[in-house]
Amino acid sequence: MIVDHVRLRALANRNVTAGGSSPAEAAIVAEHLVESNLRGHDSHGVGMLVAYVRDLEGGTLKVNQTPEIVSDTGTISVWDARAGYGQVVARQAVEWAIEAAQKHGVAVNGLRNAHHIGRVGAYGEIAAGAGMVALHFVNVASGPPPVAPFRGREGRFLTNPVCIAIPGTDNNASILLDFATSRVALGKVRVAHNAGKPMLDGALLDHKGQPTTDPSVMHSEPRGVVLPFGEHKGSGLALVCELLAGAIVGSASVTTPTPPERGIINGMLSIVIDPGRLSMRDSMMSEIDAMISWVKSAKPADQDLPVLVAGEPERMARAARIADGIEIDDTTWAQLSAIAERYQIRVDT
Ligand code: NAD
Repeated sequence: MIVDHVRLRALANRNVTAGGSSPAEAAIVAEHLVESNLRGHDSHGVGMLVAYVRDLEGGTLKVNQTPEIVSDTGTISVWDARAGYGQVVARQAVEWAIEAAQKHGVAVNGLRNAHHIGRVGAYGEIAAGAGMVALHFVNVASGPPPVAPFRGREGRFLTNPVCIAIPGTDNNASILLDFATSRVALGKVRVAHNAGKPMLDGALLDHKGQPTTDPSVMHSEPRGVVLPFGEHKGSGLALVCELLAGAIVGSASVTTPTPPERGIINGMLSIVIDPGRLSMRDSMMSEIDAMISWVKSAKPADQDLPVLVAGEPERMARAARIADGIEIDDTTWAQLSAIAERYQIRVDT
């Protein structure tokens, strides 16, 4: 099924609204989900609505929440999202951090207990768009952990993403490094499973610890595991994401004893820096341009695969998907249609 992004946004908006969200909340969540699809991250696109409906019905996602401001010194704040839509509160937290960094040069926000904040790059993009450098470390608390530590074959982490954003220049868009510390985001295993496609090599072990490309090992018992990216390096980054966004921010952690159903809870530590406090804007911008040109000037190992910088694949995917529409696999479409029927939501793609 190929769907135009405007229609998909309208459908997502009706879906979130049917869950009881205000028009403003529904618009932000729908925008975030469809922008994830547009950037090629279907794992964090409209397919997530299936989990959101499950969590709304289970009471682990709460609509129209105002975050509790736990503390605020002007440069460091801690917010508790009270299980509200992460897309809304994480955006507000980053907007707070940008404003504080504009005043003080740097700002730190600890966000606790947000329901799924989605594509972390969305927040890096907002900060970089305001001329800021941003670092985001995220943990996830949601049922049994599916990601094994290096050398392990039992899950000890969730997919704990990290995002680092560097502002763009007059000649180049911002650098946006944004990825899960697992070899692949869990949603990509779901997308492959739904589409009946194999996963890439080196991403999964079955329950016996044997390498496999079959995504169904994460969707049937006994479960397999997803591996961390980059062996001990990704495993180490997953650990510090967990500690920075969980233990240090004070958000729910993978070790917190939980009821079987707690939805998808994210903690996030955001550090936003005004780079103009570190060096002169003109020399910084020309050095960023020089560095991007330098990296991209490397001869490609494969002529058909040009050297790119972080953020570029998403911009290319967005341009293509705006023009050609967004492909939604049959299983995801059937799940969304089932929700639409149950909640009497119009589907006019
Ligand atoms: P990924 O493996 O596709 O990596 C994406 C990053 O790598 C981007 O910065 C991209 O620009 C860069 N990249 C990709 N190909 C490149 C190339 N050829 N050259 C240079 N750079 C390249 O991403 P992922 O790990 O699957 O994560 C997908 C999304 O899932 C992210 O947006 C992440 O924030 C999100 N996520 C969220 C949660 C959560 O709990 N909220 C958990 C995990 C992941």
